[in-house]
Amino acid sequence: MSVLVRLDGPWGRLGLLVDCGEGTQRQLVHAGVASSSIDAVAVTHAHGDHCMGLHGVLARMVLDGRTAPVPLACPASAVPRLQLLTDFALAGGAPFALQWRPAAEDRPDVVLQGPGWRVETAPLAHRVPTVGYRVVEDDGRRLLPERLAQAGVAGPDVGRLQRGETVAGVVLEDVSALRPGRSVAVVMDTALGDGARALAAGVDLLVVEATYLDADEGLAEAHRHLTARQAARLGREAGARRVVLVHLSQRYPSLEGHLREASEEHPDVVVASDLDVVALPPRLP
Ligand SMILES: [Zn+2]
Repeated sequence: MSVLVRLDGPWGRLGLLVDCGEGTQRQLVHAGVASSSIDAVAVTHAHGDHCMGLHGVLARMVLDGRTAPVPLACPASAVPRLQLLTDFALAGGAPFALQWRPAAEDRPDVVLQGPGWRVETAPLAHRVPTVGYRVVEDDGRRLLPERLAQAGVAGPDVGRLQRGETVAGVVLEDVSALRPGRSVAVVMDTALGDGARALAAGVDLLVVEATYLDADEGLAEAHRHLTARQAARLGREAGARRVVLVHLSQRYPSLEGHLREASEEHPDVVVASDLDVVALPPRLP
């Protein structure tokens, strides 16, 4: 299991690799993703199917001669176990620094921040300490050309406004509209709970585990996972605009059941297969 979240904006671009199951490095090659486009790694929990691929991904970065530091976020108590994997990968020496970013397991936290974005976490409800992630773009301002013309502001003065200066009594707020930041949440593995709801609240894209179908709801509860219906309902109730179902149990021969049950709960559902690329819905006006 692995999901690469990519977000770009006027501030630049961010590639956050969330989870790193066995074979992730090979799949990145198949997907045409260079290791250099991964800015940071975030592990939800220390179950093997979410972290055993750390070794391969880090070893690839060593081979590629990466020098940029690699922030690695995970639940705080998972650090010692994950260190077994990272130590092995980096034992021969690495040209980059690995930066541990332990996340609080009992409350929301912020584990990474950059120019124009941040990565938030919230505890999830699984069988071992688990956190989910949410990449949030800062709100920005969208210039309104007609307002600029009315105010008689043009050329280099526009840049001055954008830097927060006042030009002939005009400030940026007078000639622009709020452009809400976009957000993507990755929620896995978990039963329903407050953390999952907080992460999913109002996101543009909710990537969420949907291990089981309705018929196996008892198994979902026992193993602390979600059904497709629960995952899609979580998205609807939290106001997530598009829901992407991942982490489907191999017990089901096709994806149709997941799509059918989830679509009864949310109007915009994607059931993802390996290597699928899912776009964020268009920016809201
Ligand atoms: Zn798990």
